[in-house]
Amino acid sequence: MGKKLTVEEINEHSKNPNQGFDNCSICNGVELAGSMNEVNKESFDLICSECVERAKLQAFFEEQGFQVHLFEQDNEQNAEVESWSDGGVDMIINLLPFTKEEFIKYVNDFDIDEEIMLNRQDKRYCADFTLTQSLKDFKKYHTGLKKVSTKLKKL
Ligand SMILES: [Zn+2]
Repeated sequence: MGKKLTVEEINEHSKNPNQGFDNCSICNGVELAGSMNEVNKESFDLICSECVERAKLQAFFEEQGFQVHLFEQDNEQNAEVESWSDGGVDMIINLLPFTKEEFIKYVNDFDIDEEIMLNRQDKRYCADFTLTQSLKDFKKYHTGLKKVSTKLKKL
């Protein structure tokens, strides 16, 4: 994996007139020439390894039926990964940063009791779901997440 250069490092390396640089066509990150191996198949532009990993992760979640919304915050690539429970509850998972480890951690920490309590603060939700239905819905949702997590670990 190549290493992203800071402005100071670029200036330092630029003192050597023979030193070339690679630019990632997606995140605009700069690395020393030859560090970026992957190429965008349409435009033949270079892509850094972080952007390649991120694209793989996004494709994985989309294949599993999630909607992925990428966003940048504090110079990090984050994502909202959205899906719906069988009962129709909109479930949004914030991954800060957007990594496989963050998702696995979310699934491990997922607390069905807390999720039920949070949703039952909403009067409309309470009208739509009895407590038993809530429990059944979130248990099923969590089981689905655990299956995705197991697949993700093998990715
Ligand atoms: Zn990049």
